[in-house]
Amino acid sequence: MVRYVYDFAEGGRDLAGLLGGKGANLAEMTRLGLPVPPGFTVTTEACRAFLATGAEPDGLAREIAEHLTVLEQAAGRRLGRPDDPLLLSVRSGARFSMPGMMETILDVGLDDDSVLGLAKVSGNERFAWDSYRRLVQMFGSTVMGVDGALFEHALAHLKRERGAANDLGLTAADLAGLVGTYKELIRRETGEDFPQSPDEQLRRAVLAVFESWNGERARVYRRREHIPDDLGTAVNVQTMVFGNLGPDSGSGVAFTRDPATGRPGLYGDYLANAQGEDVVAGIRNTVPLTDLEELDPTSYTQLLEHMRTLETHYRDLCDIEFTIERGRLWMLQTRVGKRTAEAAFAIAAELADEDLITPDEGLARVDGNGLARLMFPRFDTSAVGEALAHGLPASPGAAVGAAVFDSAEAVRRAAAGEKVVLVRQETTPDDLPGMIAAQAVLTSRGGKTSHAAVVARGMGRVCVCGAEELAVDTGARRFTVGDTVVEEGTIVSVDGSQGAVYLGAAPLVDSAVMRYFEQGERSAGLVEAVARAMDRADGVRRLQVRANADTPEDAARARRFGAQGVGLCRTEHMFLGERRKLVEAMILAGDDGEREEALDALLPLQRQDFIGILEAMDGLPVTIRLIDPPLHEFLPDRTDLAVRIATAEARDTVPDPHDTELLAAVNRMHEENPMLGLRGVRLGLVVPGLVAMQVRAIAEAVVERTRAGGSPEAEIMVPLVGAVEELRIERQEVERVLAAVSKESGVPVHCPVGTMIELPRAALTAGRIAEEAEFFSFGTNDLTQTTWGFSRDDVEAAFFSAYLDKGIFATSPFETLDRDGVGRLVRLAVDEGRTARPDLKIGVCGEHGGDPESVHFFHTAGLDYVSCSPFRVPVARLEAGRAAL
Ligand code: ADP
Ligand code: MG
Ligand code: MG
Repeated sequence: MVRYVYDFAEGGRDLAGLLGGKGANLAEMTRLGLPVPPGFTVTTEACRAFLATGAEPDGLAREIAEHLTVLEQAAGRRLGRPDDPLLLSVRSGARFSMPGMMETILDVGLDDDSVLGLAKVSGNERFAWDSYRRLVQMFGSTVMGVDGALFEHALAHLKRERGAANDLGLTAADLAGLVGTYKELIRRETGEDFPQSPDEQLRRAVLAVFESWNGERARVYRRREHIPDDLGTAVNVQTMVFGNLGPDSGSGVAFTRDPATGRPGLYGDYLANAQGEDVVAGIRNTVPLTDLEELDPTSYTQLLEHMRTLETHYRDLCDIEFTIERGRLWMLQTRVGKRTAEAAFAIAAELADEDLITPDEGLARVDGNGLARLMFPRFDTSAVGEALAHGLPASPGAAVGAAVFDSAEAVRRAAAGEKVVLVRQETTPDDLPGMIAAQAVLTSRGGKTSHAAVVARGMGRVCVCGAEELAVDTGARRFTVGDTVVEEGTIVSVDGSQGAVYLGAAPLVDSAVMRYFEQGERSAGLVEAVARAMDRADGVRRLQVRANADTPEDAARARRFGAQGVGLCRTEHMFLGERRKLVEAMILAGDDGEREEALDALLPLQRQDFIGILEAMDGLPVTIRLIDPPLHEFLPDRTDLAVRIATAEARDTVPDPHDTELLAAVNRMHEENPMLGLRGVRLGLVVPGLVAMQVRAIAEAVVERTRAGGSPEAEIMVPLVGAVEELRIERQEVERVLAAVSKESGVPVHCPVGTMIELPRAALTAGRIAEEAEFFSFGTNDLTQTTWGFSRDDVEAAFFSAYLDKGIFATSPFETLDRDGVGRLVRLAVDEGRTARPDLKIGVCGEHGGDPESVHFFHTAGLDYVSCSPFRVPVARLEAGRAAL
């Protein structure tokens, strides 16, 4: 029989799939002997069953009742008992942490009678009514669907009336009155009364938590974080402990290390006389956790001990939630904490130093996306001048953008291509779309554990929070700092590493990590941590990493970044600029003589390009791709020409004959679908002399480099092959020219000849093609286009966001390789290619070569190397290492 409920004492962190992260970790803490209020977890399986059928699964109610009885016996109190009620929290908690995205309801079990009983047993009337009003508010909005803002308004109104600065200024009578107001509100909005039966409260709260899995903000968050939609959430039902019992009680959150930098130490926020939700919500200003040492030294010492226990046990940075009830410490949550990229590297290095984890575990805990973030530039603090305001450095990095004041505006402007900074007093889960759209988030309230800070860190957004000098006026769409008024649309710079805000666009400088890659400058701290991860990755990886580089400068940079060759050198970039005229002449040539003349003029220029690249990559392979794009890409635009000619005619002057000739050529060569037209190997086969010129330039460059004492390793790559016959014919031409240059120069020139695999037919006939190819390089951009039938230039803007919304794919197949479709073609081609030619060298040169997830795929598919843009080379090295773990 399926079992839907587990006591905290039965579970453990290995059951996170079933119990959710929160439930599994509550169980783990219980087993470790930490003070966790007793409770039980309703499984994600129960949630899935409920969401699938819309009905409570059979037996769930009975199981909950049984476990509740155990709780009641342990507590010596009963749910709903009027003179001494047991109160419960009902908490969501999915497999992957989704901070604040789903619902939690506190103080379940209070009604009009038991609130009086609670007042009596606690000897604190205000506390009892405060708890009751919290329950009615949370239950009303979460379970009964009343707009939460209505409760907030009622609360704010009452505070104003009483002249109370915050909720502590309200008396027991005020709060009792507020409960009445709330209940009235619920009745008006729903036509229903707030349920006076604690059993009904519990049952409905559990189901509401299930339902919150499909709430709008939870769905947005999952899409952003690529969390599957079908996992469901667990529900934790737990005995309440009370941080709102008076000044000797309180609630807090803490990290075992600084989640922004990874530095060891105690980081957190504490709020006296409050329930947990108040800490993150920014209702009152929290104090730094270190203040607790004075407020309650016993609890403080215990807390430090528990945190050490947790960090040693989890062997990682943990974050925790705790509550102190009249001097007694309770642990309410822990998990391996989210952190910035900087902290991830620093913590991995440090824990490895402490022998808490192995170097391989350290490598597993950092990632390429984080590394890429650390390579971004930072503000030049020596050149920025006076900061406009300071706040907490909550999520590092430098961002420049136009200030906007709500989520919708951020989304709207970002969609139009503008960079924006979202400015709020504090953020709530409803701001998520805006936070995703913005470069940075800036808030005037909240600590390092506020919603804005936690979510921004998780997403890698720059964030400064708690910038208290800012007076944010969302309605008027502006903020002020002293006399300075910053209207919506004004450019501001946000420094998430220093916690500073500047007016205007601050100047940027390279990051220290970038300097390490550029110059090998190894220094203490973060750079050393990154260097160690890189060394480890290089030590374990099987995949080689090359770069896509078309110029000697790019090749040299790539080499400094650790590239082991050039995987793609595009020759068509060498046809642009000044040389366009020569290419034009070649295309327009009336006869072989004219064409040869043009090609002869191009030859020395191409040769010089190749010499430079081969020199920069001396001793390492350089894969040079023969010309790929349709030739008319090198001619002027058809419309421009037509307009020019028409304008001349309208002025009654004779149009430039060259223009007329060009237009005729453009018209002749016009293709409806150039991506599928005369390009790649097809060009080589039909345009006489073109390939011969390119191969000669390569071969002569090799000769020259050899004579200069170098070790050039040029490889010649033929694009867009679909049939072995195409490659066979082209290859004969290549070999002919190589032989000719060898003979003329007396220097033997050997260049391996291979092909791109970028058409489905090439992958499907890879065994045949391998007979003529010494290497394969997957062109996954074209292979994705042709496998899906997507024209990349058109589809991304047209409908990809709809596809992402509908969950057809979680990321664009142009970003992360589509394993199921394109990936199958890759595997097939690798298998058949290697069967036909066991020493076939295989790489990939599409943009996927620098995408972390795709790198892992290429590793398992057995490729020899990935090739990516120079700046992604360190990312690919790191991920290739992680893939090999
Ligand atoms: P989230 O996943 O949004 O953090 P939680 O389930 O952790 O939601 O609940 C939010 C807050 O409610 C917690 O910070 C905690 O302080 C408080 N809380 C939850 N359970 C209890 C409990 N049993 N006693 C007292 N406070 C609780
Ligand atoms: Mg929590
Ligand atoms: Mg291609």
